[in-house]
Amino acid sequence: MFEITGVEQKRCWDESIMPPVENVRPGLWSIPVPIPDSPLRYVLVYALELAGEAGVAIIDAGWNTEAAWTALTGGLTQVGFGIADVRAVLVTHIHPDHFGLAGRVRENSGAWVALHPADAAMIPSPGAVPFSGLISNEQQHHSRSGVPPLDETEIAAAAAMMAGHYASFTAPDVLLEDGDRPELPGWDLRAIWTPGHSPGHLCFADAGRGVVLTGDHVLPRITPNIARHPHSGPRPLASYLDSLARIARLEEEFVVEEVLPAHEYRFRGLADRAGTIAQHHHERLEEMVKLLVEQPGPTSWELTARMRWSRPWADIPTFMRRGATGETDAHLELLADGGRIHRVGDQPGRWFTGPAATASG
Ligand SMILES: [Zn+2]
Ligand SMILES: [Zn+2]
Repeated sequence: MFEITGVEQKRCWDESIMPPVENVRPGLWSIPVPIPDSPLRYVLVYALELAGEAGVAIIDAGWNTEAAWTALTGGLTQVGFGIADVRAVLVTHIHPDHFGLAGRVRENSGAWVALHPADAAMIPSPGAVPFSGLISNEQQHHSRSGVPPLDETEIAAAAAMMAGHYASFTAPDVLLEDGDRPELPGWDLRAIWTPGHSPGHLCFADAGRGVVLTGDHVLPRITPNIARHPHSGPRPLASYLDSLARIARLEEEFVVEEVLPAHEYRFRGLADRAGTIAQHHHERLEEMVKLLVEQPGPTSWELTARMRWSRPWADIPTFMRRGATGETDAHLELLADGGRIHRVGDQPGRWFTGPAATASG
């Protein structure tokens, strides 16, 4: 049964204030690290005290800003460590709120940084300036989905944003694959590959302590963004639903006493929550099929405008509409792979129910 265990974190969430640093288990703390201008407010960095040596490993690092750095180093000090005591940074995925500060932590501590190879593959090689290529890929993807192209201001903003992210992205020292047990004295942490939200997303389980660290894969309140875009990898939603089933099965392996997510608050009921999120996506899939039956032939952009959102479409700014269309695209891809719908044309593609007509003659 789903139950919020991070009661203080939840109270702070409701009051729109930062939660405190908390001792979650012996030798395990959560440190909230602020994210600039984000409704997610903070990422929860977990600090794991290592046995036999004065040191810690951290799971995720935070966004690359001074405020985040101050919160991270301050949080570590509060629990008895300096930044130089960090031996390892295990990153759940490449998104800047998790990976952004990893390089700076390494510079100040000599820690090794670990990431799954599928996310590591997205880090551009040093010296490469891939922004124009990335943006033109994105524009192409947009025109296929019927999304209005980025104007010049938006292109400049996107390039600046990417440059900011990439500047802080550092190559990992260790690649963690599914099932790997990173070398952390006193811990029996197992990496669980859960692609979907990002192609190389990792969760971490410690069966002995009864905890699962879920990153962005399973959150207590919101469903993580699952979108099809040029760097999402193919079939992100199918991968994500498989990964949800996978993480839920941990409850058959050991008693999961608590789930430690990277945002919001701690909870219990991993399989329950994973089931609720999967159900949400299945409802979205059915909503799309129904809309295509009622009015066939929309582009992905047009269909997205007809979906239910948390606020009226007219109030949603264009950049968020584009993001929402990426989510629609992930769902449409899954439906099309199952033969329930098909696309006609390409620039833009238009969607209809039923399987694609097989080519003949
Ligand atoms: Zn993320
Ligand atoms: Zn995140």
